[in-house]
Amino acid sequence: MKLLESRVRAEGHALDERVLLVDSFLNHQVDPELMLEIGKEFARLFAEEGITRVVTVESSGIAPATMTALVMRLPLVIMKKYPKRRNQEGLLETEVYSFTKNQPYILTVKREFIHTGDRVLLINDFLANGEAAFGAIRLIEAAGATACGVGAVVCKSFQPGKGKLLEKGYRVEALADVAFMQKNTIRFVGETL
Ligand code: 5GP
Repeated sequence: MKLLESRVRAEGHALDERVLLVDSFLNHQVDPELMLEIGKEFARLFAEEGITRVVTVESSGIAPATMTALVMRLPLVIMKKYPKRRNQEGLLETEVYSFTKNQPYILTVKREFIHTGDRVLLINDFLANGEAAFGAIRLIEAAGATACGVGAVVCKSFQPGKGKLLEKGYRVEALADVAFMQKNTIRFVGETL
């Protein structure tokens, strides 16, 4: 998505070779108009998948996932993170390793909000090692639903998440797919030098 790539290039800040900061429009301040364009693009890409529910992981996935759900006219479910297991009845839980915090957390969703047979689209802000995506997929599948696709606003393809998801047969769509980055340099997949 060219509009997003331009914003990443203009405002993104590669902290190092692994972490990209896009705080001015996605992770801290949010640009709602850009989020709406992102929602339209995900809705277009996954239009033929028979999606019945959009799911995201708190907190930075919420803005793009809300817009996707709005455009698709579907409910949005936000998976929540806790430091420890809650062992509550009706709550599905799985451990996930956090890319940014370098420690595990417990990802949860109430069983009642994902129905058996649902066809779920997972939207998140970033796809790096795939830990958050695989955690969310475990919960979706534990609820008896199908994970029909993963939409990442930004994917860093030089990290293993996208490859692992594709290898397991999940569909992945990234709106800005970063092939390489270094301080002050960002190169997208398919971009010629
Ligand atoms: P993964 O689980 O795929 O390794 O990482 C995904 C999660 O880690 C995202 O939901 C996001 O919160 C965070 N994350 C991963 N890489 C980056 C990054 O380069 N920048 C920012 N801001 N967050 C990231």
